[in-house]
Amino acid sequence: MSHVLVVEDEPKLGSLLLDYLTAAGHEATLLADGLSVVPWVREHAPSLILLDLMLPGKDGLTVCRELRAFSDVPIVIVTARVEEVDRLLGLELGADDYICKPFSPREVMARIKAIMRRTGRRETASESGLHLDEARCQVCLDGRCLDVTPIELRLLKTLSSAPGKVFSRNQLLDNLYEDYRVVTDRTVDTHVKNLRRKLESISADGDLIHSVYGVGYKLEL
Ligand code: CA
Repeated sequence: MSHVLVVEDEPKLGSLLLDYLTAAGHEATLLADGLSVVPWVREHAPSLILLDLMLPGKDGLTVCRELRAFSDVPIVIVTARVEEVDRLLGLELGADDYICKPFSPREVMARIKAIMRRTGRRETASESGLHLDEARCQVCLDGRCLDVTPIELRLLKTLSSAPGKVFSRNQLLDNLYEDYRVVTDRTVDTHVKNLRRKLESISADGDLIHSVYGVGYKLEL
């Protein structure tokens, strides 16, 4: 049975989430301050953590960093502002997903389900039939190969290094160019568009690269 830890200091929101989680068959625990999270996680090893950022005692950013020092439990950060997500991604906190307040409990449950499915199998790129041939600058999907540009190859390599993880445009740019001051983040959009078109030409379900509104891109296998 999965055990979800909810860290939330708004009592109404916390108990609402607990109700939904329990109804969906999860065991669920609510903590309302930042100080108690790390000791609790060490002792109970939950399956997933929903982590609010603004917390009494210790803020969510610090808590997330401390958790990552000893655990790879999936962490979903809950933030009050959508504009903040890009900054959070840049901080490399190691969180698995972000949810913006206000959210619907239904949406949260769907995200939790998706993350559990993803982390449950931890499918690698090669297992899914995706293969990158760096020497030939080719991408193969289910045995069918096509030529890509070196930049498209690097883009796909970065995305496939962590399937399901959202990369911001800046994070992708860092991996694409030695000197990315010469390009804008819209350049990423253009490369993604071209790469998508190519992948669709060799696979019926070539829709591997998903855009995440206001944030960036992720690869779904
Ligand atoms: Ca809060």
